Amino acid sequence: MTTGLPHRPCPVVLAAPSGTGKTTIAHALVERFEHFVFSVSATTRRARTGEVDGRDYEFVSRERFRAMIDADELVEWAEVHGNLYGTPARNLKAAQDRGEHVVLDIDVQGARQIRKRIPEAVLVFIFPPSAQALWSRLTARGTERLDEVRRRLRAGRRELEEAQHFDYIVVNEDLERAVARVRAIVEAESHRPRRILDLDGQVSRLRGEIDEVVRRSDTISPHPEYSE
Ligand code: ADP
Ligand code: 5GP
Repeated sequence: MTTGLPHRPCPVVLAAPSGTGKTTIAHALVERFEHFVFSVSATTRRARTGEVDGRDYEFVSRERFRAMIDADELVEWAEVHGNLYGTPARNLKAAQDRGEHVVLDIDVQGARQIRKRIPEAVLVFIFPPSAQALWSRLTARGTERLDEVRRRLRAGRRELEEAQHFDYIVVNEDLERAVARVRAIVEAESHRPRRILDLDGQVSRLRGEIDEVVRRSDTISPHPEYSE
């Protein structure tokens, strides 16, 4: 993915009601496309079966999490469904240094903080296609008890109010289409003038080249199909 001109990568925030599929979309972007990297959050939640420390989350104690807040190591953090979650600032710095788009799978409170602290981030709200689909996905995932599923649905109902403050909304009905749309958004964002590295330098180089062509236009041949 390239604009042809060197550009700054985009931090991409994906937020959605729990069970919509944002983690699935985030991992698909990272697995399939070059230049995307997943931001591994710190959390005090216990690991689910199959989750790997350092890959899915950095699983930490409440004390360690508090120490990270005090040391200003988290660019944003929030309490979600009774656990603490936060994005280590070093994730963004490392991605920036490597020219990679860092994908943040975070809740709406975290998205709000990122909007303030990192204005160049692109915020994408993922919509479930329907409440029934959300219920099916949450229960099929089988990671929460039914009372917790109900709690997450109610929280999701509130979180939908935040969608209007995001830059984009993508419906995750068909996974392939949703992944392609998020990728297309990042592709388009990479073409914004403010993301082009040294745009002034690029413009003045091209202007200098145009001056040179005009200066030499008496001596260089026009295109073979040219006729006056
Ligand atoms: P979130 O991170 O938003 O809580 P997940 O990525 O864990 O959601 O997805 C919840 C469940 O829904 C998972 O079992 C996942 O495989 C499934 N899922 C994700 N996207 C789709 C989709 N487009 N169609 C059907 N199932 C999906
Ligand atoms: P889960 O426990 O299902 O993995 O995640 C619960 C919620 O916490 C999801 O909405 C997820 O996006 C959010 N979350 C995960 N990591 C972070 C983070 O670093 N910061 C914030 N604010 N939310 C997070």
